[in-house]
Amino acid sequence: MFEGAIVFLPIAAAIGFVLGGLVELTAVRLPSGTPLLERPTCPSCGASASRWSWLFPRRCTACGFFPRSQLVLQSLSAGTFAAAWFRFLSAPLDAFRVSLFALFLWLIARIDWAHHLIYLVTVVPTLLLATILALLASPRALLLSLAGSAAATLLFLAFYGLGQLLYQRPALGSGDILLAALIGAMLGIDRFLPALLLGMTAAAIAALWLLAHRTAHRVTYLPYGSFLAAGAVAGLLFWGPA
Ligand SMILES: [Zn+2]
Repeated sequence: MFEGAIVFLPIAAAIGFVLGGLVELTAVRLPSGTPLLERPTCPSCGASASRWSWLFPRRCTACGFFPRSQLVLQSLSAGTFAAAWFRFLSAPLDAFRVSLFALFLWLIARIDWAHHLIYLVTVVPTLLLATILALLASPRALLLSLAGSAAATLLFLAFYGLGQLLYQRPALGSGDILLAALIGAMLGIDRFLPALLLGMTAAAIAALWLLAHRTAHRVTYLPYGSFLAAGAVAGLLFWGPA
């Protein structure tokens, strides 16, 4: 099985790299309202780019801008795909679910990172998809997924209420509650908590780092959703889907 995996992993990584390019394209175009199929342009100067620039990040010939975020996202996506298929090679449906879920989580993380927003249109269809794929896996997976989604929503609603009570303002956005519901549905009731804790811990460390380096002198917004989504990807790779 190990030898089989070695042949298969570069293919999984290549598919992840291609789909990562589409995720970056969606993440850039969704907030600006640009149609997905419009000819690619340079994000910095707007000069038209080559038709395949969404797949192969290249330096702009007009202004010299290099789309670093695209390369990072495509590499993350390629790595996640390879890791998911390596980890769940004996359970192809789990490998499929983890790599697909990771793709949507990277999309949500990328948009939140740049815009501090979590779009309904990215969360709700993914929530439906997670539910349908859990049903395909087994009735038990569906139950774990539904219960996980409900429990994660309640937990984040409680955080939200606590923030209102202690600071007279919400400590979380409504998008974070939706994202928690999605993470609960992907991982299931028995696994969502450690995944959320991973993301919350990473966000807390990042907040402390920002404070220590005094870059948080003005109101610095921490893209909390990006940390939660990345924690969920790690959780899916460690513990698997619901
Ligand atoms: Zn340019």
